[in-house]
Amino acid sequence: MYQLVEIFESLQGEGRNTGRPCVFVRFAGCNLSCPWCDTDVGPRFSLSLDELVAEVKSHRSKSVVLTGGEPALVAAMPELVAALKAEGFWIAVETNGTAEPDWFAFVDYIACSPKAEFADRVALTRADEVRVVASSAAAAGFCRAVRERIAATDYYVSPCERDGEIDYATTKEVLSRLEGWSLSVQLHKILGFR
Ligand code: SF4
Repeated sequence: MYQLVEIFESLQGEGRNTGRPCVFVRFAGCNLSCPWCDTDVGPRFSLSLDELVAEVKSHRSKSVVLTGGEPALVAAMPELVAALKAEGFWIAVETNGTAEPDWFAFVDYIACSPKAEFADRVALTRADEVRVVASSAAAAGFCRAVRERIAATDYYVSPCERDGEIDYATTKEVLSRLEGWSLSVQLHKILGFR
């Protein structure tokens, strides 16, 4: 059984695939505890493999985002990835980069958001995009270290949100200290869609 928080269809709100319609599957559980985390990772319901695939298929989009929490921790993910591939889905995973399970090789897109607060936990070596949250000006140094560690096509800095306030000033400061990094905002929060 898969422990889940929510499944919903929306537009991808950040990174290179911004605007792409996707079915988001949010798995319960995370191995980090970021001080500014606003994601509820407690399990709300569980589904079998067949039930989960059927739920994803009930939506219109043929793209699915495996997110969390931390989906890399889900033991039965290889079976789910194989089943979704067999149904023709484009599959993305959103990960904090603390693990690099074998099944990452079978998804179409890896978006990694490593956390400066847990710099020593970064284990991922490759991704399609990397997004670092500008939680402090010191995130610039972390960005440089991450770029040495994780080979990716795109590198983004995202503003940190605390208590409903989006901190653009620190984001600007971090980006001004970097070369080859772009801004990624959480458009779904700004435009008010889920
Ligand atoms: S890795 Fe993501 S889900 Fe986990 S605590 Fe940090 S922000 Fe929250």
